[in-house]
Amino acid sequence: MKLNTVCVQGGYTPGNGEPRQIPIIQSTTFKYDTSEDMGKLFDLEETGYFYSRLQNPTCDMVAQKLAMLEGGTAAMLTGSGQAANFFALFNICSCGDHIVASNSIYGGTFNLISVTMAKMGIETTFVEPDCSEEELNKAFRPNTKVVFGETIANPALTVLDIEKFASAAHAHGVPLIVDNTFATPVNCRPIEWGADIVTHSTTKYIDGHGATVGGAIIDGGKFDWMAHADKFPGLCTPDDSYHGITYAERFGKEGAFITKCTSQLMRDFGSVQSPQNAFYINLGLESLHVRMKRHCENGLAVAQYLKNHPKIAYVIYSGLEGDKYYETAKKYLPNGTCGVVSFGLKGGRQAASTFMKSLKMCAIETHVADARTCCLNPATSTHRQMTDEQLVAAGVPAELVRLSVGLEDIEDLIADLSQALDKC
Ligand SMILES: *Cc1c(COP(=O)(O)O)cnc(C)c1O
Repeated sequence: MKLNTVCVQGGYTPGNGEPRQIPIIQSTTFKYDTSEDMGKLFDLEETGYFYSRLQNPTCDMVAQKLAMLEGGTAAMLTGSGQAANFFALFNICSCGDHIVASNSIYGGTFNLISVTMAKMGIETTFVEPDCSEEELNKAFRPNTKVVFGETIANPALTVLDIEKFASAAHAHGVPLIVDNTFATPVNCRPIEWGADIVTHSTTKYIDGHGATVGGAIIDGGKFDWMAHADKFPGLCTPDDSYHGITYAERFGKEGAFITKCTSQLMRDFGSVQSPQNAFYINLGLESLHVRMKRHCENGLAVAQYLKNHPKIAYVIYSGLEGDKYYETAKKYLPNGTCGVVSFGLKGGRQAASTFMKSLKMCAIETHVADARTCCLNPATSTHRQMTDEQLVAAGVPAELVRLSVGLEDIEDLIADLSQALDKC
């Protein structure tokens, strides 16, 4: 199946007389004839369902579709993108370990890593996404366990040189996790470029209609945990909390990461996706390939319009010729980047505020990747914890507006931007 077909049909093939749409298995638990039958599931000797905090058939169908879309071997849904990134990192890092991360990442992930995970004894060295290989290599320590970045960073829109980050990670015997939320597998498949694990906030383009908060983790199934067994005791030595299972031995490169993440972290933290929400996510996936094309067309048209406007100081959109990341995007995202365009107003913080207030159709929201166009001034909202220096370092100075271009008619969109700019 080609990618477009996987969006529509992947993950579920109904049998004769079965529902055409994926069934919503709205059940906390599952019934067995004997305790022994159920025991085999608890021991991970057989696959099956026993409690929806661990696994649910509806969620698994959607996870399977995402695994197919990303070219991975196993996947799981989580209750949010935050949970996905936390689980993906914490599945291989614990107290005393170290992370190397791009500093151009989502504000929520920045807090998760730099504040909350620091309290858990996990330290992070942030690097510029454009750092040299030498600078990148210098960030590693003997206790580094993972490298993290975003394909297209939210909201700075930097494009990650995935091959550079993957080769540095692999040279140090650790995996690369890439948050592929903004690109989606329609526009980039990080595993093909060397990433080992991919995460998503499915809340964004995958849902695409502002209906459901969710996340996903997909394992590329290529990282050889056993070859670096000393670094990853959680995967390579017996799990006493799970009947002494050694995940990497029992489930191999293809299954160890997701099995451990499900049976250990989801069991203990319980940031589970609901079957009803998984159903909505799947509805979004069915049209993802069609919507992404339109988001990118509208995004590019808006970027071109703004670029030529006298009140605009700069436009950040890697699909736009002349953008700092144009060449990187051409390599990793040849079919389009995303619908998010950032720009700075010449009038600074005040003009940004007037502009936002004057919009009629584009709504102010803490959201992106919706069918409806929305916008945000990160300095006064999502990134308000950061100092001015951190804002600049994260690529979101005070005058910056992030516009998530939706699926409306482009003429209506430009008319709204135009009348709002007239008031600035
Ligand atoms: C929104 C977002 C997240 C967090 O996802 P939630 O679903 O809001 O928890 C993580 N990473 C990126 C790139 C995001 O855009």
